Amino acid sequence: MTDTPLYNRVCVIGLGLIGSSLLRCLMADRSLAAEVVACDRSDTVCARVAELGIADRVESDATLAVAGADLVILCTPVGAYADVAALIGPHLAPGSTLSDVGSVKQAVVRDVSPHVPDGVHFVPGHPLAGTEHSGPDAGFKELFRGRWLILTPPPGTDADAVDRLGRLWAACGSQIEVMDASHHDQVLAITSHLPHLIAYTIVGTATDLEETTKSEVIRFSATGFRDFTRIAASDPVMWRDIFLNNREAVLEMIQRFTEDLTALQRAIRWGEGDKLFDLFTRTRAIRRSIIDAKQA
Ligand code: NAP
Repeated sequence: MTDTPLYNRVCVIGLGLIGSSLLRCLMADRSLAAEVVACDRSDTVCARVAELGIADRVESDATLAVAGADLVILCTPVGAYADVAALIGPHLAPGSTLSDVGSVKQAVVRDVSPHVPDGVHFVPGHPLAGTEHSGPDAGFKELFRGRWLILTPPPGTDADAVDRLGRLWAACGSQIEVMDASHHDQVLAITSHLPHLIAYTIVGTATDLEETTKSEVIRFSATGFRDFTRIAASDPVMWRDIFLNNREAVLEMIQRFTEDLTALQRAIRWGEGDKLFDLFTRTRAIRRSIIDAKQA
């Protein structure tokens, strides 16, 4: 047993839902980081994080924030990564680890890798945890508990750096899985990105209905629509960046979805109740396995 923390100085950049939840985990378990530095481009957000007391130090200048850190985690929207990486790259300490929490992974490797200096370990990550809320007040330290954390280190990444980062996330309550970035993007396209796209579409269709129908959509929303509105309330910047940065995998899933929807449309048109019943029975079983896997 040693008293030495896992990291000496951890710097979190982007202090929204995910960044501030991570800060709360780090501050609650002092065996993870001797010093926790928080950074956001917004002075209002920085002031709020200081007020909440969820970091040892708050910096609005990212180059100062990363200086001397042995772990830096990007928690801004993915679309900002290239600029942030270009800014902090020259200031990253030799031997340190650079990671992130972005919801897509191939684009992150594409945008960040060119700015990672030799001797810095780049270990991308993605916590499969979140809510529809944003900002530093939305975070909470239990967010990652029992949720998957996927690491997608490029081939040849230092195994100790991957292992150490995995231990940090495990201490935040996550279960760790390591996979290839392209596999991650395919899996997430169907489990997360397409469901969000469907929710945005249904809620968008409802808002385009004429006024009388629209008010009834709100009144009678509990019949199914309500669950879609929660997903469709997710952060617009984050989701714009996800669709633009996982284009191929999402387009492939939309294609498959459209074909399946057309088959259902046909079954309804021709009164093929057996087909509907068979599908709904299969989908019910999926729900049961998610509950059994404690991911409900
Ligand atoms: P969020 O609540 O909107 O917070 C993002 C923060 O980053 C905001 O304070 C934003 O400031 C700041 N920021 C933007 N550009 C910046 C820059 N160039 N330098 C420094 N700070 C900057 O976002 P979030 O929901 O925590 O998501 C953050 C990341 O986590 C995204 O990459 C997302 O893909 C990933 N993620 C999200 C979820 C989820 O469910 N929310 C789940 C898993 C992973 P401004 O307000 O001024 O723009």
